[in-house]
Amino acid sequence: MASVDEDVFNEKLNELVNRRSGNSLNYRRDKYVRLLEKIKLCRSKTAAVPKNSLDFRIYNKLKVVKTNEGERIATNPSSPKLKSLMLVPIEEMYDILLNCHMNLGHAGRIRMMSQIKKKYKNITAQIISLFISLCTTCKIKRQNYSKMQPYKNNRAEKQNIVQESLFAHPELYSRGQVDLLYVNNVEDKEYKFLMIYRNLATRFTHLNVLKQFNANEATEKLLEIFLVFGAPNVLQSKNGITFVELIVKQIRYICPEIRIVASETNFNENVYNGRNNKDILKLLNDWLNKTQSVKWYEGVKFVQHSLNTAFNEVLCHSPSEMVFGMNPWKGLTSMLPENVYRDLSTEDDLKIFLDQYTIEVQNQNQLNPVESSLLPVS
Ligand SMILES: [Zn+2]
Repeated sequence: MASVDEDVFNEKLNELVNRRSGNSLNYRRDKYVRLLEKIKLCRSKTAAVPKNSLDFRIYNKLKVVKTNEGERIATNPSSPKLKSLMLVPIEEMYDILLNCHMNLGHAGRIRMMSQIKKKYKNITAQIISLFISLCTTCKIKRQNYSKMQPYKNNRAEKQNIVQESLFAHPELYSRGQVDLLYVNNVEDKEYKFLMIYRNLATRFTHLNVLKQFNANEATEKLLEIFLVFGAPNVLQSKNGITFVELIVKQIRYICPEIRIVASETNFNENVYNGRNNKDILKLLNDWLNKTQSVKWYEGVKFVQHSLNTAFNEVLCHSPSEMVFGMNPWKGLTSMLPENVYRDLSTEDDLKIFLDQYTIEVQNQNQLNPVESSLLPVS
């Protein structure tokens, strides 16, 4: 099911268009077709439109172009340097916006606008904002942030301003938090710090081990994450604004195509609901006890996996499902019972099992002709 209800969007769009003044370029299909025919007529060589008439001024600015979907009205720029932009009837806007919103991964209004305005003249920022406000997936992300409470400290007033602006601008929901923790482990002298990076929209957590507490090493690890998973608009940290500013500056220097701003905000421990920094250290400790290992950094990938595959009550999905649409596939474990996969080790073993399985299913269907006749024909 699409994230935006088409009927609701069209109803609200009609209300919006009706409220607009007469010089708006948003037309319903019947009026659009009439205008298109009139432009064609006026621009035809045989038409005699007085040059000082209103018709001439309007039709001089517009033309008719052929597209895969049929004829459409487009702007007729006065200079060849300017690009001709298309006007579409309001009935076609839903499909255009849905395509753009999905292709850009539920992008906000600024990214959508920059994409849309390359091609269309009459899909305005207001129409794009209306579309995004109706997207159920984007709504879940917004609700998720509205539940986060800032720290109650002497910066509370400032935090509240930030919190309010979070609600006002959807672009600020694209946010990550990076925290560096000292890991007190006498057995290991090489790795002393754990870097926790969380995407606050998807709750996806990345855990990395560091040798030193410094911005250089943290920046390297963050870039590895950002170049695969994407970077947020805003970065924050419990280690303080100075630390984040250093990281943001280094990212700008090493990788200029990524641009992030530093924020003073950070969120209350309760927000992570059993997955805060202390809980993560406890999970690592549990892993050490369970495996009798002394190398804490070897357990980091397993703790990261358990955090990202755990069901999140706010999102109603696990973080992995939010990012990839599913939890990580575990090979044969994900499709076969244990008593079958434990005996399989080569591709030939798997082929033999699949051949046997296919024959068994066919035999079963022959034994139950009535039941099998009820199955849909493939
Ligand atoms: Zn969306």
